[in-house]
Amino acid sequence: MAAGGDALVLMPTGGGKSLCYQIPALVREGVAVVVSPLIALMEDQVSALRQQGVAAAALHSGLDPAARSRIEADLHGGTLKLLYVAPERLLGSDLLQRLSRLPVALFAIDEAHCVSQWGHDFRPEYLQLGILGERFPTVPRLALTATADRRTRAEIARQLLPDTARTFISSFDRPNLRYHIGLKQRPREQLLRFIQERHAGNSGIVYCMSRRATEQIADWLNARDIPALAYHAGLEASQRQAHQTRFLREDGLIMVATVAFGMGIDKPDVRFVAHLDLPKSLEAYYQETGRAGRDGLPADAWLVYGLQDIYRVRQMSAASEASEDHKRGEHQRLEALLGFCEATGCRRPPLLAHFDESHAGACGNCDNCLAPPATRDATDAARRALSCVYRTGQRFGAGHVIDVLTGGNSERVRELGHDRLSTWGIGRDIARPVWQSIIRQLLAHGMLAPDPGGHGGLQLTEACRPLLRGEARITLREDTIQPGASTRRSRSPGDDWQGDPDSWAALRAERRRLAEEAGVPPYVIFHDATLAAMLERRPRTLEEMADVPGVGATKLERYGEAFLAALAALPSTSGA
Ligand code: ZN
Repeated sequence: MAAGGDALVLMPTGGGKSLCYQIPALVREGVAVVVSPLIALMEDQVSALRQQGVAAAALHSGLDPAARSRIEADLHGGTLKLLYVAPERLLGSDLLQRLSRLPVALFAIDEAHCVSQWGHDFRPEYLQLGILGERFPTVPRLALTATADRRTRAEIARQLLPDTARTFISSFDRPNLRYHIGLKQRPREQLLRFIQERHAGNSGIVYCMSRRATEQIADWLNARDIPALAYHAGLEASQRQAHQTRFLREDGLIMVATVAFGMGIDKPDVRFVAHLDLPKSLEAYYQETGRAGRDGLPADAWLVYGLQDIYRVRQMSAASEASEDHKRGEHQRLEALLGFCEATGCRRPPLLAHFDESHAGACGNCDNCLAPPATRDATDAARRALSCVYRTGQRFGAGHVIDVLTGGNSERVRELGHDRLSTWGIGRDIARPVWQSIIRQLLAHGMLAPDPGGHGGLQLTEACRPLLRGEARITLREDTIQPGASTRRSRSPGDDWQGDPDSWAALRAERRRLAEEAGVPPYVIFHDATLAAMLERRPRTLEEMADVPGVGATKLERYGEAFLAALAALPSTSGA
């Protein structure tokens, strides 16, 4: 790409997308203009580049006139290598005029999926960026996105690039992410245990569906000495901004958010993304979990869901008033999501298949690979559950159906006469939570469906006929029902990259001090991977420090001495 030429670059978040234009920008003559939709995103990239000694600047509405004219002077003086700018600023000022008199290395349009009117990140200004081709026919254009949806790809190419543009698609696999999908039992306690056991002191994002839940969970975590902030579209803009800035700047803060939080969050050291509700689609799940582990170090994608969640998404999909065509698409997306959640094999093949990518499985870094779930033939139990739904009139929810199956003797059961049904008590041999699990899986597999009236009842579908007729069998997974067991996992070798916790904390404290001094997020000083490498190698001189991966000449000069001192102050490792 350094040689020029137009291209569409599809790369997952954390795949080094920005390098695709930063390297050509440095190699080619002139200034590279990077169009970016968010001020926070621009500022982050600019401060990271400046820390590496690269002449970069961002033009946006938040600048005072003096700062703006300084940047414009650098631009005209030819000293600027990268100029970040919001689309409205590029199109709505005399900037294009100015640029036409200067050598321009390339145009990079970041978050290019904002051009898609179908997506929820749509920005009308992006549609006008096609003008770049008319005004600067010889300057290469790159459109970059982490969104892989085929329709969006086509739209980006049509709106922003010439027909001759090439497409580069990198693998969407994120090998450092460990996927874990568990059964929702007591979600807050499960989340707490997950954070305490695996992520004490780490940054993470917790996604919830409702605004209220984000605030409640954040309060609940804070009350347990886990620093957390809420983020949702209902907060004042200034408060949202403040929370986002704190999340980017501070170590070990947890953001409890709705999906409103995310685009442009380029914080490399987010160590986990947790979902307390099912995401909207597998694509959304991939995008949201993709915010973890952008530095390439181990990170967790953790999700819990239960019968209620599946019931809810199935019902929403059934009640949708979209066109038949759109509904069919929605239905497929939902099946893909539920299939992924209920998978008994490696998580990666179903996830990547969604992006037209194949994976051989056995990744060794997902819950099902690390601890393969038990499965068993559940044909007989499934038939009993389905018959009971049928006998009770296809009007009742899982709770009542299980009451009848297990021979419950409540007033409601007696009033309805359900204690006289042939299916009353035919499931006494199976515990209630197991019936819950069976019904959840029947719902996920589409053999049961929510009643269309929205009364919370369950109905049989066409799909269960072969099973009821004895023509098919069904295998279901055995959920781990014991409280806690679903979140506890064995530690694997990759988990110990942080080394001794006290030394790790000491280096992070030094990094935090320097970050506050410089007014930048800690990861801009050094990434976690660099700190981990320092701990492993224990450099004692500046020369040795220069060999640590991630320590370039500029950073060595700025921070080398400080970290040598911090390392020297650590207790020496025994036996080393
Ligand atoms: Zn796997």
